[in-house]
Amino acid sequence: MQISEPPFHSSKQTELSVTSPSYIDTRLLIDGEWCDAASGKTLDVMNPATGLPIGKVACAGIAELDRALAAAQRGFETWRWIPANERAATMRRAAALVRERADAIARLLTQEQGKPLAEARTEVIAGADIIEWFADEGQRVYGRIVPSRNLAAQQLVMKEPVGPVAAFTPWNFPINQVVRKLGAALASGCSFLLKGPEETPASPAALLQTFVDAGVPAGVVGLVFGNPAEISTYLIPHPVIRKITFTGSTVVGKQLAAMAGAHMKRATMELGGHAPVIVAEDADVALAVAAAGSAKFRNAGQVCISPTRFLVHNSIRGEFTEGLVRYAEGLKVGDGLAEGISMGPLANARRVTAMSNVIDDARRKGVKVATGGQRVAGDGNFFAPTVLVDVPLDADVFNNEPFGPVAAVRGFDTMEEAIAEANRLPYGLAGYAYTQSIRNVHLLSQRMEVGMLWVNQAAKGTPELPFGGVKDSGYGTEGGPEAMEAYLNSKAVSVMSM
Ligand code: NAD
Repeated sequence: MQISEPPFHSSKQTELSVTSPSYIDTRLLIDGEWCDAASGKTLDVMNPATGLPIGKVACAGIAELDRALAAAQRGFETWRWIPANERAATMRRAAALVRERADAIARLLTQEQGKPLAEARTEVIAGADIIEWFADEGQRVYGRIVPSRNLAAQQLVMKEPVGPVAAFTPWNFPINQVVRKLGAALASGCSFLLKGPEETPASPAALLQTFVDAGVPAGVVGLVFGNPAEISTYLIPHPVIRKITFTGSTVVGKQLAAMAGAHMKRATMELGGHAPVIVAEDADVALAVAAAGSAKFRNAGQVCISPTRFLVHNSIRGEFTEGLVRYAEGLKVGDGLAEGISMGPLANARRVTAMSNVIDDARRKGVKVATGGQRVAGDGNFFAPTVLVDVPLDADVFNNEPFGPVAAVRGFDTMEEAIAEANRLPYGLAGYAYTQSIRNVHLLSQRMEVGMLWVNQAAKGTPELPFGGVKDSGYGTEGGPEAMEAYLNSKAVSVMSM
């Protein structure tokens, strides 16, 4: 096994970009080799902090997809028969390389996605943690022996990898969204073909390079980019692919889930949310402001579990809102590579337009903009951290996932009223609550229609807990032992003694 010396990309993956000395162009990973598309087609990658191109990403056509699929099939036939402890050792080597290269990978991530460097580094290190957790969990896929009705027969339930996986991941967490899928797939014995995010391609490519360098056999991991709809329409029905996993918007998720259903493919869908935050009458207001504020403005609010609908008991609404406004105004917005920046730009120009539309709609409906509410003048996709107060239920921001740095606050009088509002929307991903009463915690944990509930804290997506939603936020989960089940088939074997 050959481990390439840092810079990890210099040998096979990429060439240094001419436009940015520290960014790299991204190629396709097919059958263990980095390559360009036969057509030579590429897309520009932009730095959202400057609005300037920093590199290119290769775009796969059908020829590359066919080669990647054939490699994924061969990779699966090899990987599935490697003992779980050896698979785990390879995954642990990859995780160690991720830690070793964390600074370099984080710099790529910040340049292409925008989040502050410290946030990017935390994402990369958490990625290593997730890979290690799944490496261990893969050694505990036990199956079971089931007592038989006939004493002469032995009944077994065997767990088998489902087969080659097609994964589709978005641009908001280019590392985290991959490792949850990749970790569970590889630990289960599946091969993994990723359609990565064209807007943020270099950091996931650097992640997959660690698996190549750690010694995964050719074809076990593959990476393609291109036209998302063309690629998903080709991969999902393809007979080689046995499992689909997607993170992205609910609209696209429903299309892909329907396609997966039509072709009888297993699917995991981690889709949009619109997280309610219930701040009860007895909440520690300072804690609620600090925790919900940091969860809200992390990654400039472009987080599927970002708190979005702040429901605050009317007795403390003024105090809470003032605190949140101070929190938002205390954030230092700028290029994520610069020192001391606490919020970067939005990842692309589409999100700036979306935020402006949300604010225009709120203003038309008489909402008070307590702070922010406009893009920051100058280059790049910067939008001011925004707090909206007294938001009516028919405001767009209270119905459609804002996916940006906008906190919308409204009051409530009873916990029943707050829970009814929390459950009103078709989404059911994350929820947050701040309260010191055990009665409230009990009520909220029983009645909130969410896949994840964080009480008296910001979000913590640890690998050992389920991560996923209900209702229109999707199905399947990407954490805990349940995440492994998504990549496994159960086979019943009954053996009669002769
Ligand atoms: P979008 O719906 O066009 O794309 C979202 C993601 O899905 C992207 O990664 C894109 O490449 C992919 N995608 C789009 N069409 C696809 C297709 N037919 N097949 C396969 N993949 C496809 O929207 P966008 O402008 O990139 O992002 C805006 C919205 O997406 C946000 O408002 C948010 O709701 C959602 N989003 C959610 C997450 C999440 O973590 N759940 C992440 C990113 C975006």
